[in-house]
Amino acid sequence: MNRIDTHLAASLAVQPMFIDGQWRPGGDAAAADDINPATGQAFARIAQASAQDVEDALASAHRARVAWAAMPAPEREALLLGAAEIIAQQADAIRDLIIEETGSVMLKAPWEVGYAIECLRVAAGCVRRPHGDTFPTSQPGQLSMTLRQPLGVVAGIAPFNSPFLLAMKKVAFALAAGNTFVLKPSELAPLSGLKIAEVFEAAGLPPGVLNVVPGSAEIVGQKLVSDPRVRLLTFTGSSRVGRLLAAEAGRHMKRVTLEMGGKSPLVVLRDADLDYAVDAAAFGIFYHQGQVCMASSRLIVEAPLYDAFCEKFVRKAHGIKVGDPRDPATIVGPLIRPSQCDFIARQLAESVAQGARILCGGTHDGPYFQPTVVADVTPDMPIYQEESFGPVTSILRAEDYEEALALANNTSAGLSSAIVTNDMQKAMDFALRAESGMVHINDATISDEPHIAFGGVKESGFGREGGMASIEEMTEVKWVTIQMGKRAFPF
Ligand code: NAD
Repeated sequence: MNRIDTHLAASLAVQPMFIDGQWRPGGDAAAADDINPATGQAFARIAQASAQDVEDALASAHRARVAWAAMPAPEREALLLGAAEIIAQQADAIRDLIIEETGSVMLKAPWEVGYAIECLRVAAGCVRRPHGDTFPTSQPGQLSMTLRQPLGVVAGIAPFNSPFLLAMKKVAFALAAGNTFVLKPSELAPLSGLKIAEVFEAAGLPPGVLNVVPGSAEIVGQKLVSDPRVRLLTFTGSSRVGRLLAAEAGRHMKRVTLEMGGKSPLVVLRDADLDYAVDAAAFGIFYHQGQVCMASSRLIVEAPLYDAFCEKFVRKAHGIKVGDPRDPATIVGPLIRPSQCDFIARQLAESVAQGARILCGGTHDGPYFQPTVVADVTPDMPIYQEESFGPVTSILRAEDYEEALALANNTSAGLSSAIVTNDMQKAMDFALRAESGMVHINDATISDEPHIAFGGVKESGFGREGGMASIEEMTEVKWVTIQMGKRAFPF
């Protein structure tokens, strides 16, 4: 236990990968640095999977799938609950690992650990729930039913921003449904993925049921999306990569679920409690320095409140502490890489050249991007359309509710949305007409529970994750009939 911790990692020993229940170096002896975003320094070296390593991982998952699917429910439940308990015992060490690897602030890293624990508990509760139906039939003497069965091998590709939680959400429900798994963690956060393997190894998972293969998109990603043994590819990441994978999966007739990027609107109507709306918006965009798929990157405010909202929100943004992620007072820590700061700076510069006005922020010091608020934004600007994935939001003015709704829907993304109002008629109208997979009334756009269907529409993806929604995605329905007596065939 505790093979992976930041002290061991500090030695820069190469961290092996987990295949067929064994920790082993990559076949090519290739390794890559794992960089701490706050310091810019390597704090670990990670073995990189070769094509043969991925082949071994897939072969192992494929071998293990029949016995795993046949494991009695109480044993599978106990294993998932055992894994939750192991994480609870190591919560502080895993929190520190997440902080070091991704620059998560103290507000977010422990939440991520707690979510992973809950996720495993919810998954344990799902083990006995997959069920089929029985049907009346048009054929005399026929008994007709559906069975819900595991798919076999599921592969997961995970992003960097909540690497432990998001990979765990895939692994936990896939295993609960009776599938085996091959995980490619983000190359920006591989240790968090390897930690999941370590937890399950300690919980007693049979060899091959979970394999974790860090490595490049070209070698690992391509094999997972193209190999016929993988029955489902579950991807969380950017819309750009998701689109490529969906096309590739289509060529290989592979089932795919896509949890992708957002440009989520928070709508503030004229009757809203202004202070509350400002707090909801600030949490929605500055939490985890805006590196959240559900981030409130477009604030749409009805005209009568617009000026007051801008003033209060900018004041709130000025008060946000930026800096060391280990300081409990810090709200905005480092972005994952300096290149992300450069990307946002370019996005802002282009938008300003088109007429946008920066009300505060707009600059960065190393990896630390200042909380940034932009006004006079129009739908043709990059800052309106493209995900920034940083602590940057725009405030848009809407003359009335209908215009606010139209602005909210006027993007290619459709992950989350929120509305702040006491007018429940309009709030429910918004819930019905918002083009997003999730709508939160009188709340921030950021909300996630492990037992509730999470996911988007439009270019934010398809498929849902969480609780029984995951189980449905990760199982196959089979129709079975039994003819009692003899059927009367026509010839
Ligand atoms: P990314 O798309 O750059 O990478 C995600 C994963 O895909 C990584 O493991 C990466 O190695 C892999 N990958 C990249 N190119 C690939 C290819 N050609 N073939 C196979 N695999 C490939 O995303 P990121 O920067 O790690 O994460 C941020 C993005 O993820 C944001 O857009 C964010 O909105 C999104 N996200 C979505 C959700 C959600 O639930 N909807 C949750 C978290 C993050």
